Amino acid sequence: MADPAVPVAERPHPLWTPIADDSVKANFECPKCHKQEAVTPSWMADNGSPICPDCDTEMAYFNLVQSQ
Ligand SMILES: [Zn+2]
Repeated sequence: MADPAVPVAERPHPLWTPIADDSVKANFECPKCHKQEAVTPSWMADNGSPICPDCDTEMAYFNLVQSQ
């Protein structure tokens, strides 16, 4: 059972190893004008999917990239 005294991001998981939030970015593309944006997972947690700055359309996720 999860220990609520330990922050959720620090609790061990049997299959997955936590990595730094700023070591990955999620790539999104605008379905209308095809502009691309990359955001961190914590940005998504606060804001949801990005909105295209050029045409005000919700952008679509297409992949996750990790820093080398
Ligand atoms: Zn757009």
